[in-house]
Amino acid sequence: MPLVTSKELMQNAERGGYAVGAFNAINMETAQAIIGAAEDEKSPLIMQITQTTMNYTEPEELVALVFALVEKSKVPIAVHLDHGRSFEICMRFLRFGFTSVMIDGSLHEDGKTPRSYEENIEITKKVVDAAHALGVSVEAELGRLGQIGAEIETGDPGKALTDPEQAKEFVDITGVDLLAVAIGTTHGLYRGTPTIVHDRLEAINKTVDVPLVMHGGTGVPDDAVVKAVQLGIRKINIDTQMRVAWYDATRKVIEETEKEFASLDELGQVRKYDIRKLLAPARQAVRDTVRERIRVFGSSGKA
Ligand SMILES: [Zn+2]
Repeated sequence: MPLVTSKELMQNAERGGYAVGAFNAINMETAQAIIGAAEDEKSPLIMQITQTTMNYTEPEELVALVFALVEKSKVPIAVHLDHGRSFEICMRFLRFGFTSVMIDGSLHEDGKTPRSYEENIEITKKVVDAAHALGVSVEAELGRLGQIGAEIETGDPGKALTDPEQAKEFVDITGVDLLAVAIGTTHGLYRGTPTIVHDRLEAINKTVDVPLVMHGGTGVPDDAVVKAVQLGIRKINIDTQMRVAWYDATRKVIEETEKEFASLDELGQVRKYDIRKLLAPARQAVRDTVRERIRVFGSSGKA
């Protein structure tokens, strides 16, 4: 199955009224789990690598592995850079052959300091111009997604949410293909149940023509996700939920084998140290998690 751009996947999702899951690959096992789940579900897929993964491994190594798996996959896949924070990073991933990049112009390269609206437009437009020359799709972000939980707790959620009129202007000026919006979700795990501000999403969807993206999809109740998809969300990012599945599966194996280990002599214990016995259940747990999300997003059978 050929590589596709996220724009192509989004056009089909718009017609079909569903969302495509975007899942983060960090190593061979997660990449296999994500593609395997999409194949199980006969679903289109967005495979993401986050810029921060570069702190863990040289991106070339992971990229080569991901492309090898994508090449022999049976479903259409867009390979996407998640949260690129600079023009240079986006260009680096364009050279790798990525079919989609996110320029996160909402924050500076440190990932903490907010960029002004004007600065966001400037860097986003620069990336769009370069990426479009190569036929690559671009996702941008408007609103303060990462800090939204804190804003809600201080009783002023509106301040951090994406403004519909500003979003329209931003899309018109920059020419982005997908827009990540702040509608009540945040990255990581929620302390309580997150509230998606569906009214705001509906207003944004009315003013903005491009498909909308939900970041921080982990922990959002299924009915709220389904409603968001009905209101124009076409790409949903999931990362934390896969990490939790990985940890839980690994912990379970360790707890079980610790008991078994205790009954063995020294030589027996050495022979028991086979990390594949940790990795295989973790990979399966991630695969199950991705499958379950794909079903909720409505993209099963759409490949
Ligand atoms: Zn994100």
